[in-house]
Amino acid sequence: MAFIIDGKKISNDIKDELKEKVTAYKAEGIQITLAVIQVGKDPASTVYVGNKKKACDYIGIHSLTYELPEETTEVELLDLVRKLNQREDVNGILVQLPLPKHINADLIIRTISPVKDVDGFHPQSAGALTIGQKGFVSCTPSGVIQLLKRSGIEIEGRECVVMGRSNIVGKPMALLLLRENGTVTICHSRTKNLKEVAKRADILIVAIGKPKYINKDYMKEGAVVIDVGIHRDENNKLCGDVDFNDVIDHVSAITPVPGGVGPMTIAMLMNNCVDSIHSR
Ligand code: NAP
Repeated sequence: MAFIIDGKKISNDIKDELKEKVTAYKAEGIQITLAVIQVGKDPASTVYVGNKKKACDYIGIHSLTYELPEETTEVELLDLVRKLNQREDVNGILVQLPLPKHINADLIIRTISPVKDVDGFHPQSAGALTIGQKGFVSCTPSGVIQLLKRSGIEIEGRECVVMGRSNIVGKPMALLLLRENGTVTICHSRTKNLKEVAKRADILIVAIGKPKYINKDYMKEGAVVIDVGIHRDENNKLCGDVDFNDVIDHVSAITPVPGGVGPMTIAMLMNNCVDSIHSR
């Protein structure tokens, strides 16, 4: 039976550490403020925005929530982002994705000041990660690094295979593993012999967005498996990209869904907010 990596506990530990830091900053008169913008009423986004606010309240970060109607124009949203960029009292800005189709999300992300880009999606943040410079890092992959480190799983020198090459998960994930001196392979939908490539992995990170798609045929015995995927299965229960029940006796450690990577994303967002006071 594999070791189950407890993302809930690790994320709570991180939030408690951040709370202590924020309390110390407050004692010095420093208040951290995160502005969160949601356009429209996508139910999943409403849940995510609510969870972000809850985490801010717990840690002691002041949050400003902007709930804009679906018909908000691109110009109006750009205007709000620019105003928040200018505000001295706002440290971090987050625009909840997805945005309605009539708004160019790339343009909005590019307009957020890189020093307030707590999601780490701005091209300058992505570029800084690529060349090993300081900058905000996308929260989900940085959460995966924390899961590995805090579970005592060595990355240096090990074969790491990342399945998925999105800008918010796969690519930054691969770069972070490289930063930790892993030997990194990236796979995607055009990869040939995916099973053979995946079986090289000591550490397999799965972020392909396909429910229960990856079974034990894709992993060597004793691999560490991190499942980034999050879906509802046929019984409306949460599940990942990995077929958990199929692989559990085959791997040495694995993240569950829920309770694995998911809670880490918000914890690392909070970490970026706390770091934002040093980014100006
Ligand atoms: P995405 O943008 O849809 O990217 C999926 C990636 O997987 C693409 O690079 C795609 O390859 C690759 N892929 C798809 N099918 C494949 C296959 N059969 N074999 C190999 N590669 C395949 O998804 P994402 O935003 O990275 O998210 C991935 C998963 O993580 C989703 O389930 C998402 O809900 C979840 N997620 C969870 C969190 C969290 O907090 N837990 C955060 C973000 C995302 P191509 O590039 O060739 O198309």
